[in-house]
Amino acid sequence: MYDIIIVGGGIMGCSSAFHLTRADNNLKVAVIERDLTYSKASTTLSMANARTQFSLKENIQISMHALDVLEKFEEKMAVDDTIPSISYRREGNLFLVEEASRESAEQAFALQKELGCDVEWWTLEKIRERFPLYEPKAFIGGTFGPKDGHFDAYSVLMGYRAKARAQGALFVQDDVVEILAHRKQVTGVKLVSGEVLSSGIVINCTGAWARDVAATAGVDLPVYPVKRQIFALDTAVKPESPLPLTILPSGLYFRTETGGLILLGKSMAEDPVGYNFSWDDKRFMEVLWPELAEFVPAFDTLKLVRGWAGLYAENTLDGNAILGEWPEIKGFYLANGFSGHGLQQGPAVGRYLSELITAQTPTLDLSIFHPDRILENRPLSEHGLV
Ligand SMILES: Cc1cc2nc3c(=O)[nH]c(=O)nc-3n(C[C@H](O)[C@H](O)[C@H](O)COP(=O)(O)OP(=O)(O)OC[C@H]3O[C@@H](n4cnc5c(N)ncnc54)[C@H](O)[C@@H]3O)c2cc1C
Repeated sequence: MYDIIIVGGGIMGCSSAFHLTRADNNLKVAVIERDLTYSKASTTLSMANARTQFSLKENIQISMHALDVLEKFEEKMAVDDTIPSISYRREGNLFLVEEASRESAEQAFALQKELGCDVEWWTLEKIRERFPLYEPKAFIGGTFGPKDGHFDAYSVLMGYRAKARAQGALFVQDDVVEILAHRKQVTGVKLVSGEVLSSGIVINCTGAWARDVAATAGVDLPVYPVKRQIFALDTAVKPESPLPLTILPSGLYFRTETGGLILLGKSMAEDPVGYNFSWDDKRFMEVLWPELAEFVPAFDTLKLVRGWAGLYAENTLDGNAILGEWPEIKGFYLANGFSGHGLQQGPAVGRYLSELITAQTPTLDLSIFHPDRILENRPLSEHGLV
């Protein structure tokens, strides 16, 4: 019998296990993860970027917390002599703004400033001066977050995992095939072997698989696995300094990767729903490269080194987290639907779930993401910045 069973050991599962065992190291917490290589987990296939540039107050606050946690992660998450090395690079995020998005960008910028974020409004001249390879004439300016940046997602995941384990969490390699409930109370999980593990609290942290897992308890989540692709490029012309994560209004984004490569991606309407991990160089050659070369003419000569595909757990109601106890099954908690920005939400989500479950006052009130809104069909709005 466990106090808490966490299904899925990606960033959400490991951060939750860390926070729960830190809050009370007498808690019997089990994390059940079926793939210890994490070869399909979104956590390890992501762009590993954290930014405070959102337009919903709580998303901004979640990321402010992430930047703070990342800054001190190596120091705080050591286990004995093993110190995680997370390669956190604060190389910035630059959102280009076009006339059509000026108003929403100004509103988001004002809110970020009000909340104390480090963010600057840049003119075209400033963009050209800082990043001379860019040709931003199609835009009116940009917002730049100098403290935003990227990190080694696998090392952060392993950091949470190792610390949670040192604090007493049990990690089990297995496949959960059913969430068990009786009279509207969760009672445990069934494993693929048929074995049953009992617990009055189960947290669904299964990322892009969350809908299937929730369905075994009769819960209908609007969370779908959507394929997203990333491409790694070796450009003939190398920028003088690292390029920040640069996001065009079309959704094209790119940044310098450690080692001088450029990583690039774009979410597209035709991205398929399903567990599909194939990547497609034709998309890069025919669609993304011309768009990139228009904004960075020097990148008209490059080599496509490799690519990969990962899954967004796309919340089709509003693209935001679904966080908290499912109203119709006591003890069944959800940490789902993070779409394209869940990695940076791991620290705040794990802390919040732990506070809810151990009946502490939340340090950061994230009740806006409560699953009630799914049943009430009440979407949150992020003004297109998700
Ligand atoms: C291409 C791409 C780029 C991204 N870029 C960013 C970014 O720059 N910044 C950012 O913040 N976010 C980004 N994201 C989103 C981010 O990666 C995810 O939101 C986040 O990692 C979700 O974490 P998770 O723990 O919910 O899911 P996952 O990391 O997918 O973990 C879920 C785990 O559950 C396990 N599991 C599933 N079903 C079962 C079962 N039945 N039994 C046992 N185990 C099970 C899986 O094996 C998996 O390991 C990106 C995502 C992708 C795909």
